[in-house]
Amino acid sequence: MCADSRRAGILLHGGAGRYSIDERRRRILENAIKEAAIAGFSILENGAVEAVVESVRVMEDSGVFNAGLGSALTLNGYVEMDAGVMNGRDLSIGAVANLRGIKNPILVAKKVMEETDHILLAGEGAYKFARMMGFEDSTDKLITEDKKRKHRELVDKWLKGEIYKRFSKLKRFYNQNVDEAVGTVGAVALDYEGNLAAAVSTGGIHIKLEGRVGDSPLPGAGFYANKYAAAVATGIGEYIARLLLSKYACDLVERGKTAREAAVEAIKYITSVFGKNTAGIIVVDYKGRIGADFNTGGMLRAYLGEGLAKPLITIYRENIF
Ligand code: ASP
Repeated sequence: MCADSRRAGILLHGGAGRYSIDERRRRILENAIKEAAIAGFSILENGAVEAVVESVRVMEDSGVFNAGLGSALTLNGYVEMDAGVMNGRDLSIGAVANLRGIKNPILVAKKVMEETDHILLAGEGAYKFARMMGFEDSTDKLITEDKKRKHRELVDKWLKGEIYKRFSKLKRFYNQNVDEAVGTVGAVALDYEGNLAAAVSTGGIHIKLEGRVGDSPLPGAGFYANKYAAAVATGIGEYIARLLLSKYACDLVERGKTAREAAVEAIKYITSVFGKNTAGIIVVDYKGRIGADFNTGGMLRAYLGEGLAKPLITIYRENIF
């Protein structure tokens, strides 16, 4: 515990969804998020931004989440990724949308924040910028045979009317196969100087239309950080964006709520407007208190902070955080 009873730490999520998974899959996901939590926390002395970006980068590289190497394919078989990072100290932001061919969108987002006067680059321009910054083209690693097979199965099911059928419009695009769809990743942190940061990365929704951008790269929607709190949301981007859910949670902290209360209220809010199975959120506040909530079956999350020897990890409503 450090000055002013502040507690530095990092809180991660690996996506909200149904999570009817077997033990083996659970272990794979838990190990991957554990590694990411340790990686981020180990460099927290370099600042909250460095820590959240590192945790997200590790999750992108793990290939087990719907982000970076694990990213879902669009309806036509491409990978288009969204990512964003925000520094709560000076409100600087970097984000990319519809980025193809680069395996670590979060690192490109960080370059947008550090090397440009812009906050968000999209599509071809984002790709060109990444190449200019020295990132390699990893299209072959992003579009694998295994993913193509899964993708064909999903499209077949969709064409046969076996998936999507219970849902209309937006919901059908998300819930076609929730087990597959979970796995967007995010991290929020409070560093030893009292600065907050948020980072997020996603391949978006499975068999989404090309060009579709969700909440993840949109500041205030998929992520937000200021001097009061940092928040990252996950779930149906089209709903989260309409409510600017991450900013909503940070505003609640500014008005006196704890991180936990803010997370719970934010999820209550989206549930009241768009119903269940729509979102999850993680929040850390200026004291380092953490909060997480979701209206889905589960949300993989991990926390590592000062005074803890190893990350706390949970998926369902176990009473950890
Ligand atoms: N929010 C992401 C999107 O809509 C998906 C997710 O969080 O699973 O692109």
